Amino acid sequence: MDVVRLVLDLLYPPRCPFCGNVLETWEEGMCRRCQTNLPWMQTDGKRVEFCEKCLSPLWYQDGVRRGMHSYKFRGGRDHASLFGLLMAQCLTDRWGEPMDCVTWVPLSARGLKRRGYDQCQLLAQQVGQRMELEVVPTLVKVRDTKRQSSITSPSARRANVSGAYALQEGADVAGKHIVLVDDVATSGATLEECAACLRMGGAEKVVALTLAQTKK
Ligand SMILES: [Zn+2]
Repeated sequence: MDVVRLVLDLLYPPRCPFCGNVLETWEEGMCRRCQTNLPWMQTDGKRVEFCEKCLSPLWYQDGVRRGMHSYKFRGGRDHASLFGLLMAQCLTDRWGEPMDCVTWVPLSARGLKRRGYDQCQLLAQQVGQRMELEVVPTLVKVRDTKRQSSITSPSARRANVSGAYALQEGADVAGKHIVLVDDVATSGATLEECAACLRMGGAEKVVALTLAQTKK
């Protein structure tokens, strides 16, 4: 361990992203309690149009909401490594086929400027690194949308993201088997929209992979 890391760890001890407790030295990434108690998904997830499957290691509830919230809104970039690991493990466990590349649901230019980083891109990079898959940008968000979590009805959510994404110019997805990364799947409308763009560009298979998903 280098000195800078040591000092930083003393000043800002690593915390479990899900419960906020300071990690013991023998705990890696998350605390043992959360490892046991988090709502792990034991099944395949919701149906998402244009996707073979929608896979996630966790249900979006309890500490998982807290972890995701701090990742997205309090600059918890450090969580990307742990979250990406959990997602890569989930993909390995539940999807047997080899894939060609990893891509992600992008923020709009404005959203990226506001947050300073694209949380789904970071997750995609972590997944790609662990699965030894190329990580390629394929999609652009062409207009700003309301936050999906601020809308309750499924049809209104679909309308909110309808036409909001497009295939990037020159993106080569034809015939590819693609892992599409997002942070949380709620109605699935955003993933559906992005997967549709990929399939219209000729992608052969799309598997959606998120850290967590809601039960409904
Ligand atoms: Zn914890």
